[in-house]
Amino acid sequence: MDTGQAIKILLVDDRKEDILSLEVVLANANYQFDKATSGREALRILLKEHEFALILIDVQMPLLDGFETAQLIRESEKLKHIPIIFLTANNDRPNNIFKGYQAGAVDFMIKPLVPEIIRAKVAVFAELYRKTNELLIQKQNLLIVNKELEHRSEELARSNKNLEKFAYVASHDMQEPLRTIISYIELIQKKFGHSIDADMEKYMEYVVGAGYRMRELITGLLEYSRADSEEMPFQDVNGNDILKAVLANLHGSIEDNKATVQYDAIPKIKASYMQMVQLFQNLISNGIKFTHDSVPEIKVSYKKIDGYHLFAIADNGIGIEPEYKDKIFEIFKRLHPIGEYGGVGIGLAICKKIIERHKGKIWVESIPNKGSTFCFTISDQL
Ligand code: ADP
Repeated sequence: MDTGQAIKILLVDDRKEDILSLEVVLANANYQFDKATSGREALRILLKEHEFALILIDVQMPLLDGFETAQLIRESEKLKHIPIIFLTANNDRPNNIFKGYQAGAVDFMIKPLVPEIIRAKVAVFAELYRKTNELLIQKQNLLIVNKELEHRSEELARSNKNLEKFAYVASHDMQEPLRTIISYIELIQKKFGHSIDADMEKYMEYVVGAGYRMRELITGLLEYSRADSEEMPFQDVNGNDILKAVLANLHGSIEDNKATVQYDAIPKIKASYMQMVQLFQNLISNGIKFTHDSVPEIKVSYKKIDGYHLFAIADNGIGIEPEYKDKIFEIFKRLHPIGEYGGVGIGLAICKKIIERHKGKIWVESIPNKGSTFCFTISDQL
């Protein structure tokens, strides 16, 4: 459909001279006229062509009059939207006017026609047609863009899945040779430790250190690629049981750092128990880890909002600069040199995946040097 095309108007009148005078009055480079001298001929034209902006039809015609023709036009699905203007001699009885509107007319004009009025009326319908077509084109374009977007996001999801499958297989298969490297280096250290010089011992330590770090990375990668696995079913889980399990797992680190962890009462929620433990554990252990001199104070709060469970885990640690608020959720993103704080930068990426699987969102609010609050939602419709 092209909006630059001429606007087609169908003129129907059994008097050829009336059609001619209509053509003269309406002469306009943007209009293209099709002409019919009977209702039957009009219907024949409309059978082949239905892209008309308007039909001007004389009421008094032999055989099929204007009203009957309009009635038949209105019965066709393809044609019923075309506006019709009835043209009639002024000696028509008023009930004929009523009959015209019943047949679905949009307007009625009494002959002899006043050129300015008919020109203005036709211009209104022509504009309406043009605008409607423009809208239709925009709608079609939008549909095309939407389809394209859908297609792209499906492709992206597919390639992400493939990548994750690859990461899983690769990291899984790397575990075994790495284990062998680490254990043989440890064996060499044990067996030949007394006969190697200080430099050699230092190098060995580097190798073992790098091996441990690689093991951490591989384990993280494996965990990450499993995070949206369907094998972790959603079930009714008691929020407080999750926290109790997390605090038991973190017992050593809480004691070592003299940390305090307070938490609100959390109701039963639908979620994957294993993943909830992993999520809370990652966030609480980060809250304990990313501090300088202060004793870690963690507060877990809960609120029910429309459609979601909202959780917040606040700490009094080093905080996060605003420009890193989104970056920290990317895989392998860390903000500090290795050695300053432990970790491989995968914990928050796993949290994000877990939350997405639970149809929620995760974000952080933070004041550098004062503390961070990690907030997340979980849908209550799982
Ligand atoms: P990791 O803890 O293994 O480094 P994460 O994915 O858990 O990885 O975190 C990514 C980075 O985000 C961290 O290296 C740290 O710089 C920052 N970060 C995470 N949690 C906190 C926190 N509670 N306070 C300050 N910084 C944090």
